[in-house]
Amino acid sequence: MSRVPAIRADLGLGEGYHSPQVEAAVRLNTNESPLPPPDAWVRAVQDELALVPWNRYPDRSAWALRKAVAAFHGVAPEQVWCANGSNEILQTLLLAYGGPGRSVALWEPTYALHRHIAELTGTAVVAGRRAADLRLDLDVVRDDIAHAQPTVTFLCSPNNPTGEALDPTAVEQVTTWAPGLVVVDEAYGQFAPWSAAGLVVEDSGLVVTRTYSKTWSLAGLRLGYCLAPTAVVAAMERASLPYHLDAFTQIAGRLALEHVDAMEQRVAMIKEERGRVIAALSDLDVDTWPSDANFVLFRPRRRSGAEVWQGLLDRSVLVRNCSSWEHLADCLRVTIGTATEDDAFLAALQEVL
Ligand code: PMP
Repeated sequence: MSRVPAIRADLGLGEGYHSPQVEAAVRLNTNESPLPPPDAWVRAVQDELALVPWNRYPDRSAWALRKAVAAFHGVAPEQVWCANGSNEILQTLLLAYGGPGRSVALWEPTYALHRHIAELTGTAVVAGRRAADLRLDLDVVRDDIAHAQPTVTFLCSPNNPTGEALDPTAVEQVTTWAPGLVVVDEAYGQFAPWSAAGLVVEDSGLVVTRTYSKTWSLAGLRLGYCLAPTAVVAAMERASLPYHLDAFTQIAGRLALEHVDAMEQRVAMIKEERGRVIAALSDLDVDTWPSDANFVLFRPRRRSGAEVWQGLLDRSVLVRNCSSWEHLADCLRVTIGTATEDDAFLAALQEVL
């Protein structure tokens, strides 16, 4: 008889989340950067790695990295926490502030990991709905917060998978309504016209999370961070495992911040491509949603989403199939790639439609 116990009954399995990693020549399904990081960064990392005392544990507080991130955003290092991807930042926040008897509020469709991590940490989820056009309806948000009194309120700006960024008034209003922390997930923040990062101050409950996975061309690194009041960072430090961030990640992340120009060039290129892709989609038989991110949500008007997804894959173009997700019937999400990749996607889509 197996001694393997049943998995925890309350464990959310996040079925809708995992993106199938199938083979395709053009991969536009996980919102990564289409370009590698700059060569100068690779060389700088290699040089510094030669100096690491690998027999020793890394700096437990990741201080040099946090100082560099803090300088980049104009906050104090004590207001920065770094972890293995912004997913781990979200998990650490909920380990510190979630748990039994507490709740998080979110508005779907949004990034599925917000709900998943809440479930993993035994935190109740109060899930509201976005409006029919998939934008956040602030009246609904205010009522849901008043009713649920959540410990943590999740906003996602730009929202994955719908693409819309919030404006400053919306974020400021939510921070006045929410009784606890307001976490603004800005994984795609650099592609948006505005960031909430400048609103993080000591006496508010605002936390802004960011990642190196998209704009910094470093999804393979697994590094994310948050800007938060000092007390929140201290709580996250308590909830983190000792030495959770290895020496390599600390060095690579710090050195990336010496290549801001290269990152900004990549963001500008992707924003330009985004405009071109959206314009081209408007000539095809699909509905699209406006995007402030590096991806676009679209829905074929006369074909099922699943059929179109398969048709694209048959032409070796992989996009994200959201067509069976709640509130997103027949929707697909395409990451903006290089001009060549985007042309391949548009040509394949035209053929399939
Ligand atoms: N937040 C959002 C909204 C995302 O879309 C993603 C990536 N899919 C993440 C956070 C996590 O990014 P990472 O863990 O790679 O930093």
